[in-house]
Amino acid sequence: MSTIPSSPSSPATAARYADCHIHSNMSGHAQNSFDEMLAGIAQSGLAAAIFTEHLPLPLAIDPHQEVSMHADDLEPYVETLRTKAEEFDHTCKRGEARPQLIIGGEADWLNRDPQWSAASVKAARAAGVDVVLGSVHMLDDWFHDDPSRLDVWESSDVDEVWEFYFTEWIKAVRSGLYDVMAHPDLPKKFGYLPADPRPYYVAAAEAAAAAGVLCEVSTGGLRKPCRELYPAQDFLELLASQGVRFTLGSDAHSVAEIGYGFDYAALQLRAAGVDVLHIPTGPIHTSPTITLPL
Ligand SMILES: [Zn+2]
Ligand SMILES: [Zn+2]
Repeated sequence: MSTIPSSPSSPATAARYADCHIHSNMSGHAQNSFDEMLAGIAQSGLAAAIFTEHLPLPLAIDPHQEVSMHADDLEPYVETLRTKAEEFDHTCKRGEARPQLIIGGEADWLNRDPQWSAASVKAARAAGVDVVLGSVHMLDDWFHDDPSRLDVWESSDVDEVWEFYFTEWIKAVRSGLYDVMAHPDLPKKFGYLPADPRPYYVAAAEAAAAAGVLCEVSTGGLRKPCRELYPAQDFLELLASQGVRFTLGSDAHSVAEIGYGFDYAALQLRAAGVDVLHIPTGPIHTSPTITLPL
């Protein structure tokens, strides 16, 4: 196991990578504004970046837009990113380094309302969102990754939660709604681990391979109590052995987190036998991915 990075990013190697998972405070809980994050992306030295704001959730779930953008923000969000992407392209053609900017969004799989999940992705694509990350943050009405809801973890059977999570994760994969599955083993965030996670990894890897969905390697986990990448190295190796393709993402919620820990992630990916990263440019079954050798 390599040493976990202590510095947020590595400017010297940034051009080798694309950050495929970036947020602003448009969804309430990040540290920097949309404009500040776009300026951070422009300065990052990355080859490409996908801005992936949290897509709207039902008002009953997120009444004050603490974890998702307001529905009225979707079209302005896409429009602003489109304008910015064109600006980056122009400056790039003038010889200034600017990452290719791709319009994305992070969508929630809601086990209680899969039809809503589907409608949400359809609305995002209709508005011009090119790449959709799929995430299972919610199990019934519980945000299992919310540090203020550890009480539910404390009163739950950890194996049952993992079983619930991966059952829903596989349904999300098979729904065909998503281009990339974000932070695949998110339930480990606070260190609540089942006795044997491997059966979940095996089932998830088989489902992801069969669906052809990309999986994210997220450095976000390095900054959380679990202190490791999502997915765990064993899970990463299983996904790789099944032929699953990977994106790399920081899940940045501040400018300092853009490109966070990518050199470390590259080492772990190579150790798992992965030698190329993918950048989706649109719906995964109809759009080519850009490849970056590791
Ligand atoms: Zn997420
Ligand atoms: Zn995210």
